[in-house]
Amino acid sequence: MKDSTLFGKDKLERWTIEDSADVYGIRNWGSGYFDISEDGQVEVIPDPNAPDKKIRVLDVISGIRARGREMPVLLRIENILDSQIAHLHTSFQKAIDDFRYQGAFRGVYPIKVNQQMEVVEEVTQFGRQYHHGLEAGSKAELIAALSFLTDPEACLICNGYKDEEFVDLALWATKMGLNCFLVVEMPEELELIMRRAEALDTRPNLGVRIKLASRAGGHWTESGGDRSIFGLNTTQVVALVDRLKETEMLDCLKLLHYHLGSQIPNIRDIRSAVLEACRIYAGLSEEGAAMGYLDLGGGLAVDYDGSHTNFASSRNYSIDEYCADIIETVMGVMDDQELAHPTIVTESGRATVAYYSMLLFNILDVGRLEPQPFLDEVSEETPDVIISLMEVLQGLTLKNIQECFNDAIYYRDEVRQRFKHGELNLRERSMAENIFWHIIHTIARKVKHLKRVPKELEGIEEALADIYYANFSVFQSLPDAWAIGHLFPTMPMHRLNEMPTRHGVIADITCDCDGKLDRFIDPHGVRNTLPLHELRENEEYYLGVFLVGAYQETLGDLHNLFGDTNVVSIRMQPDGTVDYVKEVSGDSVADVLEYVEYNPRGMLNRFRRTAEAAIRNGQITVEERYRIMQAYENGLQGYTYFER
Ligand SMILES: *Cc1c(COP(=O)(O)O)cnc(C)c1O
Repeated sequence: MKDSTLFGKDKLERWTIEDSADVYGIRNWGSGYFDISEDGQVEVIPDPNAPDKKIRVLDVISGIRARGREMPVLLRIENILDSQIAHLHTSFQKAIDDFRYQGAFRGVYPIKVNQQMEVVEEVTQFGRQYHHGLEAGSKAELIAALSFLTDPEACLICNGYKDEEFVDLALWATKMGLNCFLVVEMPEELELIMRRAEALDTRPNLGVRIKLASRAGGHWTESGGDRSIFGLNTTQVVALVDRLKETEMLDCLKLLHYHLGSQIPNIRDIRSAVLEACRIYAGLSEEGAAMGYLDLGGGLAVDYDGSHTNFASSRNYSIDEYCADIIETVMGVMDDQELAHPTIVTESGRATVAYYSMLLFNILDVGRLEPQPFLDEVSEETPDVIISLMEVLQGLTLKNIQECFNDAIYYRDEVRQRFKHGELNLRERSMAENIFWHIIHTIARKVKHLKRVPKELEGIEEALADIYYANFSVFQSLPDAWAIGHLFPTMPMHRLNEMPTRHGVIADITCDCDGKLDRFIDPHGVRNTLPLHELRENEEYYLGVFLVGAYQETLGDLHNLFGDTNVVSIRMQPDGTVDYVKEVSGDSVADVLEYVEYNPRGMLNRFRRTAEAAIRNGQITVEERYRIMQAYENGLQGYTYFER
């Protein structure tokens, strides 16, 4: 709907970037990394310590296109990854200093959150100054970790199911001087580890994962609690201690681990879990275990909607508060029990990588549910049901709005029934439906002036939202948005000094009705439409989805055979210039077809035969065959997304 009083602003009042900042909340969720320039463009501040050095996203898009790459593009800003690692460590260090905590902090990055080599490489290289380590949850992740981690002071935490090969690699790593922990996740693993340690003539660094009684709210919290898949309950922990005593290996047990789940929005849950874990840690010390490390897992949340609340897409604490609460709680228990302060380990994945990637795409078209001007006049022959609809439209006032709505629905259904029975023709049905949409639009305009909106009319504006067709696949690039209704901040990359006069939802280019974004962040919950601008003739309209660095990249699938997008990594140099450090081509059509067992060469051959047959039948010429084959081959080599 066209709406000149959108956001309470009159058309004549000037729309400013401050208004856009409010509407899209960029300063609330942007964590200092994203803002809007004076001329209405999204800009990135890769290093919050140098806030005057900014990169305009539109400039980067031009740079990408000039290098011959098409939208959609996953843009990674490497400096942000560095900044997030630094932020976590400086926050913990500050808390350690403030409370005079005697132990150290060691962060580890859980590879599963974004397994891209670039990430693991950057985490280990930049993180080295902080002894930032890695967490591996599978054999493949351990093998990846071992190819980058060389710092003997960093932790290498091995979680997950472990076979003999996995255990052996971890034991060799320990023997080579890495601070590698084998975390017992299931009681049976201990025997395997003991057997292999003996065979390799080494002593393992053992950890134990526990199930906490503490649970947390939010999407991803099944990892905690009695019913969580992984971890030992207290009875099993005691049995483990007994077995280690028996074999004189209690000195190998050094680490206690738990993982409450990802994206814990409420600081209370974090504190209560730490407290419970500390008590178990103290119990293990009392039993005579060596201990020294307390690994609190992941869970540090990202404030996706910027509301700073305990809503699932947010968190009601800052990183500083998270660190301070942990240090204070651990210190309280340890001092109480007269135990040395342990090295605190956290496995923050989401908070480390979410900010550094964004998905960029262009809008291809807009669909509107807008009525057409009346073309057909009412005449003698016009069926009475259409006349009735017309009368509803003409008699519509603020007072009878609800009644008119009900009547319109009634007559529209009547029209459809009669059409089915052959009593109305196609043209008559079309005329009726058009009048119906005029009524709905008029109601939607008037509803805003009502003090109390009738329940049935509450969603009417949303039902009339435009559909912005966007050049990407939700299933490939934002799998959590589809699978678990995860909310990511989404907004235009430019024109932010113009009032967004439309309400839209975003449909991707898969032909799946679930391939859409129709839930958006809002400071007061969730909204079902996004304020957007009208498309302009011959001008691209670019949108971005932010904070997609965690979990999205490798969960994606090949729905409708839309493949990996192009990926571009940039890094801002100290002088503020931008380096295009890496470019990875997205999948070609041939690539995705090969994933599903097609053989492009065989396909070409078969298609060539079809073309030859067409020549024989006189349907195409030899020259046309040449052009047809070229089009087919180009198609195979091309990008799976819409190319202009
Ligand atoms: C997934 C996972 C993490 C990462 O959690 P975030 O909430 O992303 O920080 C950490 N530890 C373990 C054991 C995990 O399974």
